[in-house]
Amino acid sequence: KLGNATAKAELGRASWKLIHTTMARFPDKPTDEERLALKTFIQLLARLYPCGECASHFQKMIKKYPPQTSTRSAAAGWACEMHNIVNKRLHKPLFDCSKIGDFYDCGCGDEDGKGGH
Ligand code: FAD
Repeated sequence: KLGNATAKAELGRASWKLIHTTMARFPDKPTDEERLALKTFIQLLARLYPCGECASHFQKMIKKYPPQTSTRSAAAGWACEMHNIVNKRLHKPLFDCSKIGDFYDCGCGDEDGKGGH
């Protein structure tokens, strides 16, 4: 049940972590297929996000600011800006998106994500 503020906030933190970490691992030079996958992931997330109020805001945001998928840094910068829009609405401090760099580390080893443990 998501009818309480603590659960909604926990879902939000977990979701932002997934979103920003996904961007941090997105290729610098994505293929068209990778670009489509990222755009589709965001669009489906906006449709299926379990908090209905959040989902409807997010859908409006991505209509106005379509997901940027041309490079890793474009994608990471876009997600940071989206998160800041939500921060602003909720009267939370804004994040300096120029410092997003390696803030989000998935801890999964090799850059290609296939090696290591
Ligand atoms: P969060 O906002 O969850 O952030 C977690 C951490 O991310 C921060 O501590 C900081 O280290 C880092 N961070 C902060 N800003 C950024 C940034 N711009 N870029 C990168 N990293 C950053 N809640 C509502 O009540 N109403 C809504 O309409 C709503 N819409 C949402 C829409 C989406 C798509 C998502 C994923 C969440 C939404 N939420 C909404 C949840 C809300 O954004 C927060 O996740 C929740 O309130 C918990 O906030 P928090 O202060 O713990 O930090």
